[in-house]
Amino acid sequence: MEKLSKYISKENKINLKKSYMDACSDKDFYNYVKTLPIKEEELMKYTSSLEQCVKERKSCKECHNIEKCSHEVKGYILTPEKTDNRVIFSYIACPKKKEILYKENVTYFDVPKDIKNASLKQVYKDDKGRIPIIKYFSQFIKDYLENKEVKGLYLQGSFGSGKTYLISALLNELAKKNITSTIVYYPEFLRELKSSFGDDYNEKYLTAKNSEILFLDDIGAENCSSWSRDEILGSILQYRMEEHLVTFFTSNLSLSELENHLATTTNGVEKIKARRIIERIKQLTVVMELVSENRRK
Ligand code: ADP
Ligand code: MG
Repeated sequence: MEKLSKYISKENKINLKKSYMDACSDKDFYNYVKTLPIKEEELMKYTSSLEQCVKERKSCKECHNIEKCSHEVKGYILTPEKTDNRVIFSYIACPKKKEILYKENVTYFDVPKDIKNASLKQVYKDDKGRIPIIKYFSQFIKDYLENKEVKGLYLQGSFGSGKTYLISALLNELAKKNITSTIVYYPEFLRELKSSFGDDYNEKYLTAKNSEILFLDDIGAENCSSWSRDEILGSILQYRMEEHLVTFFTSNLSLSELENHLATTTNGVEKIKARRIIERIKQLTVVMELVSENRRK
């Protein structure tokens, strides 16, 4: 009996080796297994899974549209990994899927498409005005990843200078490191909150308020009312201050211009309430200015 099982196991090994060698006659298969840090006698036990790995890698190279992905798990590639005593196969996201997954870390409310694709690598290098901001970003990324206390920016500058693009590029970069954020075009956000009722109102408002990082874009361009200033902006900022949540702003206005803007509502001039908001913004941010030509085409 024992002799028989030894015989079967020997026979088995020969068959495994044969099918592995047959597979190796395929150039792509051979080139692939050569790159793996796993011994051949191990790999031999998994020829058909390895063939699947090769097939999926080949189709990835030719892929233009993830929707047409033919893999066993759409958007994922079968990948071998050596553990202590065997090889396991798992699915990892393909490059296109990774891009989609990291973009999901940023929630965009009413933001144009070019902003969704903003990237730090593509930030104009010809403009000296951007250098201090880029330096701030590098330090910010480092500190944030080390869980140090950091402040967002209040980035002030003229129309079209690239403020929105810059901060979005930073948040898209952080998304790759799995940091979630929300980019809100503030004037539209208010319009929507004003005209929506019930669940929708709550959902957007709460997403912004609780977001790990929040970017309020174009503050000061909204029609200010005491409701938007005190109930919406005031409560969001108060909460974010208390919870030490990072918040970014861009504006065409300086802080003192913003203060005047916030003070003037249909209720008349309310300087103290406006001042309270400005104090919160100052607590949450470092103020910087972007001086640049209009980049809008
Ligand atoms: P702002 O918010 O200051 O008004 P934007 O950030 O919207 O300006 O930039 C104006 C235009 O220039 C946008 O269309 C934006 O996509 C483009 N832009 C700004 N900076 C860059 C950049 N570094 N690379 C590519 N496009 C940029
Ligand atoms: Mg802008």
